[in-house]
Amino acid sequence: MTKNGSLILVINCGSSSLKFALFPAGDKTPLMSGLAECLGETDARITAKIGGDKKTETLNGQGHAAALDVLLRVLAEHDWLNSVKAVGHRMVHGGEAFKASVVVTDEILKVIEAHNHLAPLHNPANLLGIRTALAKMPKIPQVVVFDTAFHQTMPPAAYLYAVPMELYRDHGVRRYGFHGTSHRYVAEETIRLLSLNPKDHGLVIAHLGNGGSATAVLNGKSVDTTMGMTPLEGLVMGTRSGDVDPGALVHLGRNAGWDINTMDTVLNKKSGLLGISELSNDMRAIESAAAEGHDGAKKALDVFVHRLARHIGGLATSLPRLDAVVFTGGIGENSSTVRKMTVERLRVFGMVLDEAANEATIRGKSGVISKGKGPLAVVVPTNEEWMIARDAAELAGLTGV
Ligand code: ADP
Repeated sequence: MTKNGSLILVINCGSSSLKFALFPAGDKTPLMSGLAECLGETDARITAKIGGDKKTETLNGQGHAAALDVLLRVLAEHDWLNSVKAVGHRMVHGGEAFKASVVVTDEILKVIEAHNHLAPLHNPANLLGIRTALAKMPKIPQVVVFDTAFHQTMPPAAYLYAVPMELYRDHGVRRYGFHGTSHRYVAEETIRLLSLNPKDHGLVIAHLGNGGSATAVLNGKSVDTTMGMTPLEGLVMGTRSGDVDPGALVHLGRNAGWDINTMDTVLNKKSGLLGISELSNDMRAIESAAAEGHDGAKKALDVFVHRLARHIGGLATSLPRLDAVVFTGGIGENSSTVRKMTVERLRVFGMVLDEAANEATIRGKSGVISKGKGPLAVVVPTNEEWMIARDAAELAGLTGV
């Protein structure tokens, strides 16, 4: 049950961007969505999509506050502004302090701020979004939804690195995991799709977008995930390396004069599909180049799938039983090639691909893409914005139980 006519605004604020979506409470389809980009630069602009209509306007070099002003004006023009009863914000890192979404208070803002060092690029930008929204909409409850919260159920065996414990105690060095909002949503949807028992199931969910992570979900809870202290560990991503022997960095520091900034830039921005293929970070481009025989693209695809299958296999060992491997994110939802190559690697589990179902399950469709008796392979489109809206609605008291 939802209070009639309430709207929820979802904001995902980056250092030079602000993504937004407007949901009627209880409805998964946004009334409006859009993106303000290049904020603070000369070509700062904001694009809003309403139904099939898309409009872009310039922000004349201004920043986040100006973007929010335009957004509020558009909301007012459509008579939506007074119906906005909650704002949901995406926050990348909540450390160990946040195990679920929370309503913003001064105290909460201070605790989040104290975690900025764990995500120096993301958290300050997310906080800027909250502060700007608070200033413009002081009477509307603001809710923070953390990427890390879903993974707070991981046991120490999964979240500890084998380094001196003082690094954990003094510097917070442990595995936190990310994409939690997506993994949580996809787990719920998969349970519904496959009619699984919410209290008795084992899933491995592969969220494959520009960033990627896979998570083992036992009875609705994350018990292991591939991303670590930062969103760099684990799978091969568009421009991020995923797992690399830290010894390689020590070697490059000693022998090639690499400093911290070089390591950061190369591993986060120049690696992954882009680094191996020397062509592109975009899976569509990699797939078509590989199909035409481009050697780098073929290698990039092979390393991507090898790492993914190997991690899925590893994650399964945290589960007493594997009911399904679930693909989501831009690549997981659309690349029948990556899914086919991955499921073939999972034959050790008794998984067999249904070729026709695999080819047909793209562009927002969900469904089973395997056949036979083994664990299922499934595609379930993610909807992180909606999950943020749902949490915001619940915490703002807009939904009855
Ligand atoms: P983000 O993590 O930024 O939200 P997405 O979830 O949109 O990103 O995923 C982007 C990735 O999905 C890109 O690598 C893109 O090439 C890939 N992708 C989108 N459509 C297809 C497709 N039809 N086939 C293969 N890859 C696709």
